[in-house]
Amino acid sequence: AVRELGGTGLAREIRTRAAVDAAELTESGTTPGLAVVVATDDESSAWYVRSIARAAGKAGIDCRTVDLGAGADPQLIRATLEQLSADGSVHGIILQTPLPAGAHFEDLASAIDPRKDVDGANPVSLGNLAAGLPAYPPATAAAVLELLDHHEVELAGRNCVVVGRSNVVGKPVARLLLQRDATVTICHRHTPELTAFTPDADVLVVAVGKPDLITDKHVRDGAIVVDVGTNPTTDGGLVGDVDPSVHVAGLTPVPGGVGPVTTALLLQHTVRSAVRSARRPRHAAESQLRTSSEH
Ligand code: NAD
Repeated sequence: AVRELGGTGLAREIRTRAAVDAAELTESGTTPGLAVVVATDDESSAWYVRSIARAAGKAGIDCRTVDLGAGADPQLIRATLEQLSADGSVHGIILQTPLPAGAHFEDLASAIDPRKDVDGANPVSLGNLAAGLPAYPPATAAAVLELLDHHEVELAGRNCVVVGRSNVVGKPVARLLLQRDATVTICHRHTPELTAFTPDADVLVVAVGKPDLITDKHVRDGAIVVDVGTNPTTDGGLVGDVDPSVHVAGLTPVPGGVGPVTTALLLQHTVRSAVRSARRPRHAAESQLRTSSEH
């Protein structure tokens, strides 16, 4: 039988912990604040933003959605991110995708203060991560590692294959696995034949966005598979990138795997950022993230 590596229990633990820390912080005078900047009328994005807002509210985080409209000018998006970066009541900033045509995600995300970059979107965060310096990893990438740890999957010395190389998932996941002493291979759309690599994986992470991309011929039966893909179905459901009937040792479900852990980690990162901000002497702000040992 395939072991289901679920994420809902872990997500609940993370949210509960974040709520406890948020309450303590609020007690001492700082309410954690999260801002989600939206410039799209995409329905699945709206659904995701509402679920973040709801989860944040329950955890005692003050969440505001800044909706600039689907046709928002990139200049306005940048200015909004700068304003929120300077706003002392905001501790976490998320730039939601998709963005209007002509807006470049990494370019705009560079306007997010790295200390508030709770979804690791600023290229500075990605760079720090690559260099092994403290940074918030993108929440989805961090969720993959949290799930593997939660289910006690050994990483040091293991063969890990990551399919997908985006800045939000594939690349940071590969970096995090590397930090954990795994041997990491990254496959992507120009990899001619996935079966040349994926069957060697002890741990396979798939973040592409194509239903049934991974089937039995891609995996060995002892593999642990993390399915990051979220593909909407015509009946309003959600499927991953991995054929759910694959014969492997363990598989994360979609929905109920990486997704809920991702949302929970956004809250955790926001509360951590608020804790750091509350501890920070007003003018010594600059060096805090770099010298923190909490990551
Ligand atoms: P993306 O489109 O930015 O990147 C997709 C990657 O897949 C690219 O690097 C591309 O090279 C690679 N790819 C495309 N076709 C391929 C093929 N045939 N074989 C191998 N590689 C191929 O997508 P993304 O933002 O990285 O997201 C990937 C998936 O993860 C999507 O389904 C997305 O919805 C999902 N996602 C889930 C969460 C979550 O919290 N669960 C968060 C973010 C993204």
